[in-house]
Amino acid sequence: MSDTLAIDGGTPIRKKMLPYGHQSIDDSDLQSVREVLQSEWLTTGPIVSEFEKKFAQLVGAKEAVSVSNGTAALHSAVFVSGIKPGDEVITTPLTFAATANSIRYEGGTVIFADVTADTLNIDPTQIESLITTKTKAIIAVDFAGQPCDMQQIMDIGEKYNLVIIEDAAHSLGATYNSENVGSIANFTTFSMHPVKHITTGEGGIITTNSEHLANRLRTFRNHGISLNPAQRDLHNSWWYDMEELGHNYRLTDIQCGLGLSQLKKLGQWLNRRRQIADIYTQAFSELELVDTPYILKDRNSSWHLYVLRLNLEMLNVGRTQVFQALRAENIGVNVHYIPVPWHPYYQNLGYVKGSWPICESEYERVLSLPLWPGMSDVDVSNVIEATFKVLKAYAR
Ligand SMILES: *Cc1c(COP(=O)(O)O)cnc(C)c1O
Repeated sequence: MSDTLAIDGGTPIRKKMLPYGHQSIDDSDLQSVREVLQSEWLTTGPIVSEFEKKFAQLVGAKEAVSVSNGTAALHSAVFVSGIKPGDEVITTPLTFAATANSIRYEGGTVIFADVTADTLNIDPTQIESLITTKTKAIIAVDFAGQPCDMQQIMDIGEKYNLVIIEDAAHSLGATYNSENVGSIANFTTFSMHPVKHITTGEGGIITTNSEHLANRLRTFRNHGISLNPAQRDLHNSWWYDMEELGHNYRLTDIQCGLGLSQLKKLGQWLNRRRQIADIYTQAFSELELVDTPYILKDRNSSWHLYVLRLNLEMLNVGRTQVFQALRAENIGVNVHYIPVPWHPYYQNLGYVKGSWPICESEYERVLSLPLWPGMSDVDVSNVIEATFKVLKAYAR
């Protein structure tokens, strides 16, 4: 193994690219999907309900409503929260664009509140300073898998009568003050995209403790057609009422068959994610050139992402060069996230760069390392070795 960086023509640390996230599929998943394919139902049937029940139990919520993806989950929660044009919804700029987009689908105004430098989660003090008479809701995103300051955020919600939506696309299996993510906010939304904790191909799910709101979500995902069976009886069996403008956001029984077998493995996968994160933190705490993730004592991260922060003042190069050098070593590093208001769509709406100084300065130094439960010990060592190799080569 040569010490010359692969980007300069040296031998890469590994032969094949190690992705930053990847699904884990085994024979039990294939069997579970096969059973559904051979049954009477392919779309919304008994397996959808079974998956929803198991998911609700797992996170300790009364209800879980599945939808076609995590973005649809956010959109459904925003719709049922009654967001309309002119309403303001506060969220973080350090997230996937879908979080903010879900507000725009209903014509709401997105108000970005800056994050805190330690956790990179939305700052409750910033939230409170941005509340106006138009504010209707907050969407808190559990960045990288660490829950937000949910107690402070729920208190703000109570004080100003706001709906609290927790975007938990990163935090299935995380806890806050020993409470499960999914049981705390008015709505908690999850994604089952292949890079997330469990997958259904594409998929999303919303948990809530309100049966009424769960029924409204079920109506919304099915074209706005009401579920009320009494009404069908009243008119005749073929009658149904489309009461509001919903969507076809249904998840299928085929996908939920996969979801059910994936859920059984969540516990062991969370353990492996934590184990890998611990190995990384132990290795990188020796390296002054980076800061390791900061996890607060009263919460457990579910480790969707492992986000290193480069100490750029100690390096000869910027994050882009480090990123490219690691990719050349076949380590599939990534960046989470480009600040959402920087995207052309949001720039065209008039958002001004520089308005979220912590998010925007931390963005320049974040780098996500590969982290998924199927990674072998050799994969983990490769990431550490390559990161040391590249950073030492670029140290001032
Ligand atoms: C993945 C993700 C989503 C969207 O989920 P999809 O299932 O891909 O639609 C939303 N918010 C965050 C923070 C995500 O990471």
